[in-house]
Amino acid sequence: MKIEKAETSRRGMIDYSKLGFGKYFSDHMLIMDYEQGQWKEPRIMPYQALAIEPANITLHYGQCVFEGQKAFRGIDGKIRLFRLDSHYKRLVNSSKRMFIPVTPEKEYKDSIVKLISIDREFIPVEWGTSLYLRPFIIGMDNTLGLKVSDKYRLMVITSPVASYYDEGLNPIRIHVNTEYSRVVKGGLGEVKAAANYAASLYATQMAKQKGFPQVLWLDGKEHKYVDEVGTMNIMFVIDGKLITPSLEDGTILPGITRDSVLKIARDWGWDVEERRILFDEIRDSYKRGLLQEVFGTGTAAIISPVGELHYKDEVMIVNNGKIGEKSQILYDTITGIQYGKLEDKFGWLTVIEDEE
Ligand code: PMP
Repeated sequence: MKIEKAETSRRGMIDYSKLGFGKYFSDHMLIMDYEQGQWKEPRIMPYQALAIEPANITLHYGQCVFEGQKAFRGIDGKIRLFRLDSHYKRLVNSSKRMFIPVTPEKEYKDSIVKLISIDREFIPVEWGTSLYLRPFIIGMDNTLGLKVSDKYRLMVITSPVASYYDEGLNPIRIHVNTEYSRVVKGGLGEVKAAANYAASLYATQMAKQKGFPQVLWLDGKEHKYVDEVGTMNIMFVIDGKLITPSLEDGTILPGITRDSVLKIARDWGWDVEERRILFDEIRDSYKRGLLQEVFGTGTAAIISPVGELHYKDEVMIVNNGKIGEKSQILYDTITGIQYGKLEDKFGWLTVIEDEE
């Protein structure tokens, strides 16, 4: 691994009292290039602008995948990276679907740990804050012909962050989208391809203009089944049962927070169901007074309670617009593990040692 340290630090530019999400970047970034059929040695270098030709294939055709994961400064001062292996595996799945060559596991994991270690001073300390890592891979050929790229660049940048939504853990208002489709069966929904996010922008912006921070996505064909909420997986508590859409259709991203919630809930012996969910079932449960909690799960917000669902002319107020009991205990448990307050019983953490 080649390491070139930054001569001056960007730390002075950061307002730790107003971190927001993804506004500030640490001093270093990781780059690994793929050329002539192989991945080259990883390089850690100062965070800087890239020189990319206007004909860069990704700028035109979007052959790009990414990840989003976090490192935490624990209550004992130690740094813990959450579910490195699961994020690596998902990056590989996304890469395969986009015909991007598989990143070598050891180089990837070792260099991410090194990158965090070098920029450890950027990791904020307050509960609820963390260092967000954004690994991504782009095609690097320069051509206007539509094809799979021959050259690629993997990069990892890191950003000290606070809460993703301005609302924090306060329940958000959601617009149920019945008009636009983000993904369809046979499309890219189950991978983290940039294209999915491009497809979500218009409907999300329309919802924002109406005062909703996020949309609930229904299936892309009939707009009848529940898919995801914003850039999160969705979960419902109906009559005491934790219910979430299954992954079988390939339209839903297998969220790592989703998986963590399901593992914890099953470990506690909760009644859990992964299955297709008709949105009409949610409306019906609401009318019968059985819809107790709705929340999104994702790396950025961990648990994001939904306080209101707006569907056509109907408004469903969930749990009086307050965070539910199950949502709260799941948030406390996952963050408890991440900040080293609770035991890492599932083996999810990589502890990052001090630099020698
Ligand atoms: N769905 C989509 C579309 C997402 O972008 C994300 C965020 N990665 C998730 C779900 C949640 O996944 P995770 O829990 O791995 O962050």
